[in-house]
Amino acid sequence: MTTFQQNFALGEQAQGFLSREVHHHVIDGKRVPAASGRTLSTVNPSTGEVLAQLAAGDASDVDQAVHAARRAFSGPWRAWTPYERQALLTRVAQTLDERFEELIQIEATDMGAPVSRLRTTKPALMKMLSFFAAQAATISGETLMNGIPGSVATMTLKAPVGVIGGIIPWNGPLNSQFWIIGAVLASGCTTVLKPSEDASLSVLRVAEILLEVGVPDGVVNVVTGLGKEAGHALAAHPDVDRIAFTGSTQTGRSVIEASTVNIKKLQLELGGKSADIVCADADLDKAVPGAAMGVFANSGQICFAGTRVLVQRPVVDEFTARLLEFVKTLRVGHSLDTAATLGPVISQPQLDKVLSYVDVGRTEGADLLCGGRRLEGSGYFVEPSVFAGVTNEMRIAREEIFGPVLSILPFDDVDEAIAIANDSEYGLGGAVWSQNLSTALRVVHGVHTGTMWVNCYGYIDPLVGFGGTKMSGYGSKGSAAHMDTYLYTKSVYIQL
Ligand code: NAD
Repeated sequence: MTTFQQNFALGEQAQGFLSREVHHHVIDGKRVPAASGRTLSTVNPSTGEVLAQLAAGDASDVDQAVHAARRAFSGPWRAWTPYERQALLTRVAQTLDERFEELIQIEATDMGAPVSRLRTTKPALMKMLSFFAAQAATISGETLMNGIPGSVATMTLKAPVGVIGGIIPWNGPLNSQFWIIGAVLASGCTTVLKPSEDASLSVLRVAEILLEVGVPDGVVNVVTGLGKEAGHALAAHPDVDRIAFTGSTQTGRSVIEASTVNIKKLQLELGGKSADIVCADADLDKAVPGAAMGVFANSGQICFAGTRVLVQRPVVDEFTARLLEFVKTLRVGHSLDTAATLGPVISQPQLDKVLSYVDVGRTEGADLLCGGRRLEGSGYFVEPSVFAGVTNEMRIAREEIFGPVLSILPFDDVDEAIAIANDSEYGLGGAVWSQNLSTALRVVHGVHTGTMWVNCYGYIDPLVGFGGTKMSGYGSKGSAAHMDTYLYTKSVYIQL
């Protein structure tokens, strides 16, 4: 397998943005350098070359941004009506629709997802913004009966909690930032976002676009920097009311600890090791590409990737042969190669991690059927890799690799498959492929996880929601429950 090179030129706007000498924070409507004057490099994963300098934010930058967000929360933004916030979200959606190509070029260059893949994410982003625009106009409390003697009316009100700290990972920031920004604009909160040091650029660009669209100064602020500096400072800041965190389970634990300073409520979307269960009666024409792309999409850097592919013994051989044929059709290449279906992984450390897991798998006795090597060139390209003969005790079946590595685990009956699926500390995604609805529903009921797909993989709709259980986190992305992180409930008693 060879890598393909850039065959697509950046547009003028993306080029202009990417060629800035330093990318500053966005605080209170302005581009602001790091208080310390320090910068850190961010790398283009398709080339391994330094792409840009980011402001290296620390506690003092975070403090400045939190003050700006607090001032904005207490200022005229407070008085915006639900209709005004809804109209703002609609304008944001229209502008992103128009400028999507610029944004995906920045995202592709910064985090390595191919433009071909990023283009397909536009409908999801538009749906998310429609969802939050609808939420803006549906926030409501209840009038309640009570047992208080005399005449007392009782009700609940929903109010915005205040300043939200949003901590974002690198595997899809263009899209994932809107789970926070959408809810902030819908609820009337304000936010300080801390994107990953490996992929901050689309978040910085979006913050500027939001200002152009009319989001008031200080409502959406961005501080870049290292997780242990800027991220920790945000999680520990006493004037941040809540944290929406997406990232690894290990970092999630640090965020929980830091957040105890003022008992912040958290929305935590963490790691996964999802099981994708292929039953003997599955339609393999659909199950093979579905299970393959359930792992290889975004080069395996998706939290709900179905990395444990459990296949019922009568079809293991056929499934495996067809999977290997499918893998040959994947084209790994530069994120600006329009023919590439898979890009690089995000960084040298991530590349090293993925390759070290390939070694672990081999050492543990799994059978590497394809892939397992770095591809030529200076970018961080890994061959899509398939292990067979994997058991659930192996580390490659238990630990999140976050790379293009798929493990095939055979099973005899559905109860065994459910038991294997549940033998994991994670509970994020999962799927079952079967043409028998009873079998499929038995698996859906049996697997302890936040989302199950039947005869498909990876749909996420904000109206339905998505979230984890066990060590994959808590709180929901999407569904009415999403807004809970951004609102608090006030009980009101009125003596009549
Ligand atoms: P990560 O945990 O290393 O980093 C996530 C964010 O946290 C980054 O912005 C980072 O700078 C920051 N951070 C790091 N240390 C911190 C600290 N001590 N305090 C506060 N912030 C800190 O995760 P990653 O490597 O960027 O992303 C991959 C992980 O994210 C995977 O585990 C993946 O499963 C998970 N993820 C989960 C979901 C979901 O919805 N469940 C979605 C995407 C990614």
